[in-house]
Amino acid sequence: MIELQKQFQPKARNICSACGKDVGVSKLVVVGNVNICFECADLSKQLADKERNEVAEKEIQQMANDLSTGDAGLIDMGMGTARAHAERLYKAGYRKVE
Ligand SMILES: [Zn+2]
Repeated sequence: MIELQKQFQPKARNICSACGKDVGVSKLVVVGNVNICFECADLSKQLADKERNEVAEKEIQQMANDLSTGDAGLIDMGMGTARAHAERLYKAGYRKVE
């Protein structure tokens, strides 16, 4: 009886550390000490991308505001143009240092 129960225990290496599902070793990626199933990996990527986009959007908008407005607080450049420049700067890797 005990032997039978042991047989049906899922092996730790088959289990996703995030959702706890027994998905099998072929549907898991191993990251350090953690097993993550493809579904949880995809979900993590989606959430990370959403966060990245939100951070990017804030930085681009702030840059566009700065580019649009001169030192005297007057509009130097239309917001559409400023936004286009800000997006290019962001894509090129520029990040504002606080
Ligand atoms: Zn999972």
